[in-house]
Amino acid sequence: MDLYKEVGKKLITTVVGSYPPNSLNYEDALTRAVKDQMYAGIDIISDGQVRANLIDLFAQDIEGIELRGDSLKPRIVGNLAYKYPSTIDDFLKAKEISEGKSKIAGIITGPTTLSYSMDIEPKFSLTKYANRNYLIGGLADILHENAKELERAGADLIQIDEPCFSLLQKGINEKVKFIDRVLDGIKVPTKLHVCGNISKIYKSLLNLENVNILDHEFSGNQNNLNTYSEEDLISNEKIIGFGCVNTMRETIEPVKDIENFIQKGIKHFGKNLLVDPDCGMRILPHEIAFGKLKNMVIAAKRVEDKLY
Ligand SMILES: [Zn+2]
Repeated sequence: MDLYKEVGKKLITTVVGSYPPNSLNYEDALTRAVKDQMYAGIDIISDGQVRANLIDLFAQDIEGIELRGDSLKPRIVGNLAYKYPSTIDDFLKAKEISEGKSKIAGIITGPTTLSYSMDIEPKFSLTKYANRNYLIGGLADILHENAKELERAGADLIQIDEPCFSLLQKGINEKVKFIDRVLDGIKVPTKLHVCGNISKIYKSLLNLENVNILDHEFSGNQNNLNTYSEEDLISNEKIIGFGCVNTMRETIEPVKDIENFIQKGIKHFGKNLLVDPDCGMRILPHEIAFGKLKNMVIAAKRVEDKLY
């Protein structure tokens, strides 16, 4: 992958995606998210995903889904179909604010996670969606359109979020295939984010054909260090997105701690890493999120300076 050459770094910094909107309206929150990430020195930024939570953000743009507020799951009320996705607008806005000075990721909530976050209205014509893999397949086709649009809009990387993968008890191999369907034909580098404990599922992720970067939380879940071997990654042409600051904890890790932890990551997975926070930062206080990014970038730079 020539991402390193393109970014011009030996150790690339990025984010998982969401940034605290706090009480700001979404336009101001988006502007702040982009400017903060740039100011912190992140190589591949996001639009901050400030418009809505990770489910509604996509559910609102799919034909056949009705939103029901924060306390209820969105509901399938008709045949699912692709509509104009508002995440493209947010991506383009981020591009405008960054004035072409930053690389920007286009981010999509994955079809399996979306499927588990929806209810189905019990209409006869919709019972087909009660078949889990049929529903995920339908969503994957819609999200594939979204991925292509993001690439066309200039995304430097496409990321799929599947936080629910680490919770699946069975059927992971079939679900993983839908990620390849979403990313079919995408030419820019691709990243799959799965947080939680990945020890039971990581082997299946190595089979993904259309994913370059496997991104996980490591700081908050250090068992995840004992998963892939460097040989696994090389032979399957994968690199690790290394979550190295804890996004569940409201304290800013000292630079030295993050630096040591990245070194640990290199020892386990090799020096081809992307470093980022464990997960999205939507729920953190703004100054904590910003502080974590700043320290992470300084730590990454110190590690990079020592890489040959
Ligand atoms: Zn996550």
